[in-house]
Amino acid sequence: MANRPGALVISLDFELHWGVRDHVTRQDPRYGRLGETREAVTALLEVFVARSVRATWATVGFLFASTRDELEAYEPRERPAYAHAELDPYAEMIGMDEERDPQHLAGSLVELIAASPGQEVGSHTFSHYYCLEPGQSEATFRSDLASAQAIARGRGLRLTSLVLPRNQWNPAYAAAVLDQGFRCIRGPQRSWAHQARGNSEQTRLHRAARLAESYAGVSAPPTTGWDEVLLPMGLCDVPASAFLRPHSPARKRLEPLQLARLRRGIRHAAQHGRIFHLWWHPHNFAQHRVENFELLEQVLDEFDRLAVAEGMQSLAMADVATTISRSSSSW
Ligand SMILES: [Zn+2]
Repeated sequence: MANRPGALVISLDFELHWGVRDHVTRQDPRYGRLGETREAVTALLEVFVARSVRATWATVGFLFASTRDELEAYEPRERPAYAHAELDPYAEMIGMDEERDPQHLAGSLVELIAASPGQEVGSHTFSHYYCLEPGQSEATFRSDLASAQAIARGRGLRLTSLVLPRNQWNPAYAAAVLDQGFRCIRGPQRSWAHQARGNSEQTRLHRAARLAESYAGVSAPPTTGWDEVLLPMGLCDVPASAFLRPHSPARKRLEPLQLARLRRGIRHAAQHGRIFHLWWHPHNFAQHRVENFELLEQVLDEFDRLAVAEGMQSLAMADVATTISRSSSSW
């Protein structure tokens, strides 16, 4: 696979309340802002389509539903019984339909993403499933992924890319992922601060290390070689290179450092024929929209320059898996 052009892969974890419900209650002002996340989804789609940027929208399965009845029809038979009860999504009260409960139902947005050129609807599991938490098993994980595929099929979609919530990747689950029709995951970033671990093992030190990494600018973010994507089981892993950290007034002076670091990483991928995988959540763009979209446009300007100069490509996760399977079948 020598001389393959470099690629910018973008994935978004689309989850609305499902991804934050253990720490954002309905009284939290951030809960109210989830409505603005829906506008951020539309605005992101406009930017991607206008600039011919491809992206994977790793969407929580619950969000494929437009009504509570639709969601309940797809609930898995076997569910996780997390030791940390606050993680149990099935305890959540859900409104009748998308209009009355825009924080938990988003079928219309899934349709919009699927209809937008170059956009891949992927999975963030059915229930924002935590693969490394005590109280769940491979059987409940398989059941969860089966529900994710079933509700997607209800909208005429087949999911092949998977992003694990909180980046909790359990390599022992690779066969389950493949059996449920997935070909590609976004594994954890390959550095100490990002190693996959359960919630209780996350320390302030790990979080501080990730924050420092975004701004420190000492080393370029990691990139992935095309020959490193295919895992022995036959599953593709396109690990995260960097999280697009949203604008924060308190860290304003540090933000040029983040942009410089991202540019350096993307340039490295372009010049060495490697993959740079950038990810964030649409809810990160709900606030400070002007600043966040400006940052994104600057990142995409760098990509455009490299597309011309180095032939860099914009790919969704499924495109990477397709490229890999084409080249491995020709061996
Ligand atoms: Zn998530």
